[in-house]
Amino acid sequence: MAQRVALYPGSFDPLTNGHLDILSRARRLADRVVMAIVENDSKEPLFSVEERSEMIREIVGDDPALPIRSFSGLLVDFAQEVEATLIVRGLRAVSDYEYELQMALMNRRLAPGIETVFLMAKEEYSYVSSRLVKEVAKLKGDVTGLVPNSVRIRLQQRF
Ligand code: ADP
Repeated sequence: MAQRVALYPGSFDPLTNGHLDILSRARRLADRVVMAIVENDSKEPLFSVEERSEMIREIVGDDPALPIRSFSGLLVDFAQEVEATLIVRGLRAVSDYEYELQMALMNRRLAPGIETVFLMAKEEYSYVSSRLVKEVAKLKGDVTGLVPNSVRIRLQQRF
C-alpha cells in the first residue's frame, strides 16, 4: 500500500516543544513526516540551517519515518519531490490564521492534489514561538520546558 507522506515545513529557528507537539500529532496522520527547514527565509535566522537540522536530529534521532530536510523554492514543488500529499502547519492564536489561510489557498491553487492540514498543539504551548523563545533567552530568561534541553543549552551558548 502507498505510504502517506506529510511535509512539516518551518523555520525551526530553533526547534521548540510546540513544534515537537505538532510533529507527534502529524505522526498519527501519516506514515512518514518530513520536517523541512526553509532555506530562503527572509527573517534573519539565529541558527544556520545545519545547526537547526542538528538540533532536530538530536531530538528525533535517526527515525526513517521522520526525515529532516531543507529546501529553497516553492513549498509545493518540494512537497511533490518528497511525494507528500499533506502539508502540516500548526495554529496557535487567531493571529496565525490569516497568513496560514492565504498560504494554504495559494498552495492549493498551485498543487490541487496536496491538502494543508492545521493542527493545534497543547494549550500550554499555545504562546510558544521560536521568536519569543529567542527574545527571552537573549535577555537571560529561563526557557526550560519551552524547548528541549539541548536547544536551551545551544541558546545559552549563542547569547
Ligand atoms: P514559519 O516561519 O514557517 O512560521 P516556524 O518554525 O515558526 O516556521 O513554525 C513552523 C510551523 O509550526 C508553523 O505552522 C507554526 O504555526 C507552527 N508552530 C510553531 N510553534 C507552535 C506552537 N507553539 N503551537 C502550534 N504550532 C506551532
